[in-house]
Amino acid sequence: MMIVMEEEASADGVRPAVGPTDPGLASQFGRRGRTVIDIDGRKIGGDHFATIAGPCTVESRDGLLAVAEVVKYAGAQLLRGGAYKPRTSPYSFQGLGEEGLRLLAEAKQVTGMPIVTELLDVRDLDPLLEVADVIQVGARNMQNYPLLTEVGRSRRPVLIKRGPSATLEELLMAAEYVLKEGSTDVILCERGIRTFEPGYRYTLDLMAVPVLKQRTHLPVIVDPSHAAGRRELVPALSLAAAAAGADGIIVEVHSDPDRAICDGPQQLRAEDFPDYLRQVERVAEIAGKRLAVAA
Ligand code: PEP
Ligand code: MN
Repeated sequence: MMIVMEEEASADGVRPAVGPTDPGLASQFGRRGRTVIDIDGRKIGGDHFATIAGPCTVESRDGLLAVAEVVKYAGAQLLRGGAYKPRTSPYSFQGLGEEGLRLLAEAKQVTGMPIVTELLDVRDLDPLLEVADVIQVGARNMQNYPLLTEVGRSRRPVLIKRGPSATLEELLMAAEYVLKEGSTDVILCERGIRTFEPGYRYTLDLMAVPVLKQRTHLPVIVDPSHAAGRRELVPALSLAAAAAGADGIIVEVHSDPDRAICDGPQQLRAEDFPDYLRQVERVAEIAGKRLAVAA
């Protein structure tokens, strides 16, 4: 399989700029070059750098609203939070479900921030569409093809996480399932892959960022939180992601991570978030990105 090496638009604006190319819509740069997704004025892709921040899981109204205010005023553009949680053990907390969606709707109303939240099961699509500005398809569902197809049919922007054992080719093909339904707004996310190294939770494959950006016009972001599993690693991975040319980050932040129900050790402390984001944005700027004007 050959790859697209340049991003100039083709003369007719439909075919890839320079052939031969990967087959498929994700690799056809077309007239508009790189895809820039506009979510209520927040831009992801092209020369924009976007920050998606918030708790792993929606746990309580007060906790969600507290962290939402912090990330908003620090300059994050979108709020994340899971109402449906994919847990390794079926006995672990599975998320608040529709009550979590209701709390996300309230946080959106209070802060004005667009919401990124995960869809685990196609049966929950309709209630999720009431609140999600971006539907997250998690690493475990990257190859759930019926789910990708339904999400594509909804035409809502989609964030697809790379499965921990998935190749870049497989990730691009997951995007293809969404795009082929006529959806145009797909964000790809590197969140760590499984390697032989047991010293950390996953290996963050930052090489995926420049390579994916050669192969696709879609925005590519990085999740440093799930890769690291430990908050003290998150700043370094985030700076490195920005330096590698990522179009943004999705990062977990909690107002009281020591008491978090899910993923506590990896969630940044809310009070540390403003300084953290300032540093990441400085590196993004050096990498050539434009920063959003604070809301
Ligand atoms: C998450 O973002 O909360 C999550 C579960 O991520 P992943 O699918 O990458 O494990
Ligand atoms: Mn999490």
